[in-house]
Amino acid sequence: MAFTKKTVRDIDVDGKRVLMRVDFNVPLKDGVVTDDTRVRAAIPTIEYLKQHNAKIILMSHLGRPKGDGPEPELSLKPAADKLAELTGFDVKFVDDTYGEKAAEAVAALEPGDILVLENVRFDKREKKNDPEIAKTLASYGDVFVLDAFGTAHRAQGSVVGPAEYLPAVAGFLLEKEVDTLTSIFAEPERPFVAIVGGSKVSSKIGVLDHLIDSADTLIIGGGMAYTFFLAKGYKTVGTSLKEEDWIERAAEMLKKAEDKGVKILLPVDNVVADHFGEDAEGEVVASDAIPEDRMGMDIGPKTEKLYADAIAEAKTVFWNGPMGVFEFDNFAHGTQAVAEAVAANEGCTSIIGGGDSVAAVNKFNLADKMSWISTGGGASMELVEGKALPGVEALNDAE
Ligand code: ADP
Ligand code: MG
Repeated sequence: MAFTKKTVRDIDVDGKRVLMRVDFNVPLKDGVVTDDTRVRAAIPTIEYLKQHNAKIILMSHLGRPKGDGPEPELSLKPAADKLAELTGFDVKFVDDTYGEKAAEAVAALEPGDILVLENVRFDKREKKNDPEIAKTLASYGDVFVLDAFGTAHRAQGSVVGPAEYLPAVAGFLLEKEVDTLTSIFAEPERPFVAIVGGSKVSSKIGVLDHLIDSADTLIIGGGMAYTFFLAKGYKTVGTSLKEEDWIERAAEMLKKAEDKGVKILLPVDNVVADHFGEDAEGEVVASDAIPEDRMGMDIGPKTEKLYADAIAEAKTVFWNGPMGVFEFDNFAHGTQAVAEAVAANEGCTSIIGGGDSVAAVNKFNLADKMSWISTGGGASMELVEGKALPGVEALNDAE
């Protein structure tokens, strides 16, 4: 499935005012950007537009403002400064989004200039997708570019609105994310091994369901494994995370996988503890022998080996969700083992999605060994559930 929307390559931007929605929703500490991943991810499109003489107007949200006006600690100024630092370009910033001041700053732009507007969410109407917001923003541009993959699943003013009034195309990040995360469902190189973990079956049911349609092997780990154990008929999972209401759905997933000939791998052993905490000590038990007073915190060593062997055979790997409570060093081993197995398979295409999974891969310093690390948690999960993203839907179709 190739990307089906127009991109910046398909339009003439020379001398034009290009209004671009980026995802500069970066973490800040004392007014300084602590993780610049999202700013970096927007640079290829910005550089392209600059090389092609566009007047570039960037807009984004940052954090969760109340929407009643400016909140200095949620200003986009630090993100604009970071962009200047990373590119060496002169980056202008205006502390206004929808008013006179913003319009004047836009009017003063020369070809090749870059302007960052203030946080689009300082006004409540942005999240409500108010048409007035869209109209005002659209008046700043001749063309609209969406490159904010991380918010492409939100039908909000600055994400979908300008597409109603302007030619609307994708930036390179959006194109790459959508293309990568949908191609695993079209023509993955096989074997395709999908790995799903994290805490709950309930939050991942759409992901599991859609992955079973396309994967050859589905590896399950993390807290959701215990609900699957119950679905398989194990008598107890001790005090492990479990969702009684989801046992039946878990059983349906196992059945669906069997019907489709998808191999499911569940943990054969687990690291359990007597309480949930950083200081808890792990002990290894078989999956059908979890003591009543113990909770599963990580996959065990036999499971690590089982999973690593399956991953070693893969030509395509998609991974979402840690194998255990990786935030605690005592229970990070299973997630690390899986991350290392993916990293070691140099011949495979490896795609990592989900906020915590990406954090885990970064924690183990393996990010540069992966083929693609998605910059959008929620948006990537919606794609993997097979949903369309409103921001992408609103763009012009490629011919
Ligand atoms: P992602 O953000 O990658 O989509 P999730 O948010 O679904 O992943 O899940 C991540 C969380 O799952 C982590 O905070 C991790 O501690 C938790 N988790 C993993 N295994 C277990 C477990 N056995 N018991 C409780 N929580 C778990
Ligand atoms: Mg998460």
